[in-house]
Amino acid sequence: MPVPLLDIAAQYEPIATEIQAAIAEVFKTHRYIGGPIISRFEEQVAEYCGAPFGVGVSSGTDALLVSLMAECVGPGDEVITTPFTFFATGGCISRVGAKPVFVDIKPDTFNIDPVCVENAITERTRAILPVHLFGQCADMDALEKIASDRGLAIIEDAAQAIGSEFKGRRAGSMGHYGCFSFFPSKNLGGIGDGGFVTCNDEERFERVKKLRSHGAHPKYFHSLIGGNFRLDAIQAAVLEVKLRHLDNWHSGRQSNAERYHTELAPLAERGLISLPVQAEERRHIWNQFTIRVHDGKRDQIRDALKAANVGNEVYYPVPLHLQDCFAQLGYERGQLPHSELAAAEVLSIPIYGELSSAQQDEVVKQLKSAFSV
Ligand SMILES: *Cc1c(COP(=O)(O)O)cnc(C)c1O
Repeated sequence: MPVPLLDIAAQYEPIATEIQAAIAEVFKTHRYIGGPIISRFEEQVAEYCGAPFGVGVSSGTDALLVSLMAECVGPGDEVITTPFTFFATGGCISRVGAKPVFVDIKPDTFNIDPVCVENAITERTRAILPVHLFGQCADMDALEKIASDRGLAIIEDAAQAIGSEFKGRRAGSMGHYGCFSFFPSKNLGGIGDGGFVTCNDEERFERVKKLRSHGAHPKYFHSLIGGNFRLDAIQAAVLEVKLRHLDNWHSGRQSNAERYHTELAPLAERGLISLPVQAEERRHIWNQFTIRVHDGKRDQIRDALKAANVGNEVYYPVPLHLQDCFAQLGYERGQLPHSELAAAEVLSIPIYGELSSAQQDEVVKQLKSAFSV
């Protein structure tokens, strides 16, 4: 039985009528850019995230870029972040002309280690950019303490973490900015690209809103140099429908994660794999269920799963400090050992909410058979 890593059709089918009605609604007004759907959706997402302000943008990448621009981060500035993330996190820091400073992660949660952040601070540090990887929040208490002591901005990369919580506070409501992605594979995925920025104060919110449309307000009067970072009305209409189902989908992922923890425990007890760790006082939304395969066997296990038609992926095979495009930053292999080991060991397996128990049994069976257990 083939099991895909993600089954977008299985999520769409039960809500097809709702989605199509929402799209039809857009054609009643023909407001494709801006308009009431966008503002309504922005209010709903901000509320869902527990943030006072929110701005729909064109992608998760642009959410990061426009937040860095709104914070006036640029040449001569340093931004501390994790190398164990999707490329956009580090790429955007370079794109505004600042220097990404990569520090190591905690091996249990894969998230940035606040002790390493503290050690990397210089007089050029302007912001900290933690990523809530795989749907679990970074240690925000420690990061907020470091940032507030030194007056640094916090930009949360919450692209994989909408609805995720740290001590009852939601991703995107803790830092100065929260950056979300509606890429189709995220827990809240659009029918194309889309993203969102939450802000916790009005001044930053106003800057992000302006920068999203070339820094103009009113139209054709430019006080800032921005770009076209707008969310389409059609995406907002679809996402508004999906937002109503999001907590249900989170629950599906949550119970699949629990079931994997039970079913895969024998492999973990034998030291063949490690299961993902849910840290205390977190609500994990399981954008990915990522195990570690030990003893250098990851690629071999991966090939066996592929041969059995079980979808899987390596997020991420090369940590950012070792990417060719960042060679001029001068990092060397061995410098951020936890990130490097994670890149060599991680393997993400199907976790989407619509995964049936028969399909999940198949994933477990094929994994065990790949280890000859
Ligand atoms: C998906 C993702 C992004 C980028 O989002 P896009 O919408 O694809 O531009 C940024 N950071 C992380 C951690 C992501 O997972």
